[in-house]
Amino acid sequence: MTQLSRRTILKAGVAGLAASTLPGIAFARAKDGQAALEKAAKEGRLYDAIVIGAGAAGLTAAISAIDNGAKNVALLEQKDRPDGNAIYALGSVCGWGSKRQISEGIKDTAEDFYKAMMHVSNGRADPALTRQYTNDIPAGLDWLQEVVGVKFGKVKRAPYPREFRVNKINGEGITGGAQLVQKLLALAKKRGVKFLWENRATRLLTDNKGGVIGVAVMTPEGRKAYFTKGGVTIATGGFSANPEMTDKYIGGWASRLAIRGSRSTTGANIALTLPLNAKMVNMDQFHAGPIIAETHVNPNEVLNSGYGIIVDARGKRFVDEKNTYVIKAKAAAQLTIENKAWAIVDSDCKVIDKMTKRFQRLNTKYYTANTIEELAKQINIAPAVLQKDVDDYNNAVKNGTLKQMNPPCSYPKPFPIAKAPFFAIPYEGGMTATFGGPLINPKAEVQSLEGKSIPGLYAAGNAAGGLFFRDYIGGAQLGGATVFGRIAGREMAARAKAAK
Ligand SMILES: Cc1cc2nc3c(=O)[nH]c(=O)nc-3n(C[C@H](O)[C@H](O)[C@H](O)COP(=O)(O)OP(=O)(O)OC[C@H]3O[C@@H](n4cnc5c(N)ncnc54)[C@H](O)[C@@H]3O)c2cc1C
Repeated sequence: MTQLSRRTILKAGVAGLAASTLPGIAFARAKDGQAALEKAAKEGRLYDAIVIGAGAAGLTAAISAIDNGAKNVALLEQKDRPDGNAIYALGSVCGWGSKRQISEGIKDTAEDFYKAMMHVSNGRADPALTRQYTNDIPAGLDWLQEVVGVKFGKVKRAPYPREFRVNKINGEGITGGAQLVQKLLALAKKRGVKFLWENRATRLLTDNKGGVIGVAVMTPEGRKAYFTKGGVTIATGGFSANPEMTDKYIGGWASRLAIRGSRSTTGANIALTLPLNAKMVNMDQFHAGPIIAETHVNPNEVLNSGYGIIVDARGKRFVDEKNTYVIKAKAAAQLTIENKAWAIVDSDCKVIDKMTKRFQRLNTKYYTANTIEELAKQINIAPAVLQKDVDDYNNAVKNGTLKQMNPPCSYPKPFPIAKAPFFAIPYEGGMTATFGGPLINPKAEVQSLEGKSIPGLYAAGNAAGGLFFRDYIGGAQLGGATVFGRIAGREMAARAKAAK
């Protein structure tokens, strides 16, 4: 691939060069888009469709573009392998009405599913995107199983709402998400997708009407540029691993969250599309969960067990223990200066045996003692403080006054912390993935601040904004990557065909 130099661009008739952020090179606005495309075609740098990011959404979009008639599709990935959140994902894909769900006798309706998705977002998810997800996810799940070849386990109930909607990909020794990526990668290779590894997209190239016609990239050999007739899909994930952005869009406390997944989701969805006047939505929204950053162990089960209290590094309760793990994780980062907390439980806690065995297996520290005083000493909390926490909690359990505590505790069926040995399980708040990004419409087209589709620009997966707010039904992120990845690929293919 030859580098696009200032001279060659000018010779090809690309004029009107705006001030470039890439010094010495002219990847600026292509006044004459057609000439740029013709030149790129001669040099083998013109594609029917370009996808940025080899995650669940990007691989899906690339496959879909080819399956819908695109002839040559390039997938640009900044690393030498897929490196996004998808490989960390458990592998749940949330949906209703798939052939597998029907064969298991699960009764569900589009309307119930749509309502549940809107409900978890407090009614703030984009209704048209939620409707599109609802309509397309049955076929999306069938596609994953029949075309991509993933193996789903028996359909499970989502934690909330408690319906049979979780289609968990069998990881076969790796995470379900990594298994999905492996299978998508194999299929994309089989379909002839051109993988351009170690190509970090740095800027979108536009024609003089603002339509997207290419991508400028940084590679180990230097800067390059690729052009496209059908369009570009941004599938670069969100900005969970970019502390400057989490600070700016969510707050300083969010930049202190541990990272539960990839370090490669650094906000290219924002950096690439903001200069094109894309409308950013839900920028302060994200999913969080507890984690022990040192070993990447998730202590979720103890936090969800309905037993014990949660205290900060000084022994102060700071959150209602009844809350979801998402809220407890966010609270640890927002309300404790160190983003460090302890779940204090006794040996009646139903999951403690299982959890401590897992901690031992994964070389992860937890503490245990026969008295609260001893336990407090081990975790550097003043013994009198922790003893008072436990006494206050136990008295409130006995007197039915848990809700009058500060903060209140709303366990519906509370148990005292009474049976030795006692345990201190550490956790930190961790960032799973951000929900904010350029708003898309149901055709995965990126929307401008003027409320119009930006020609040739698509987004899918965590790069796209609008589908999620507050929380999501477990599995809806990989579901979103599947649904909108497939749509983006189809739309780019149609556009490429129309341009011929
Ligand atoms: C611990 C954990 C568990 C999870 N479990 C689930 C689950 O069970 N179910 C579920 O639905 N969701 C789950 N999620 C969320 C899920 O992983 C994400 O929603 C999903 O991975 C999003 O896929 P994606 O394709 O949008 O992005 P990603 O998988 O993050 O891929 C983005 C890719 O883009 C590349 N990239 C970034 N910037 C550039 C650039 N400038 N140029 C070129 N390439 C670039 C990255 O290197 C990466 O390879 C989980 C997340 C975590 C962290």
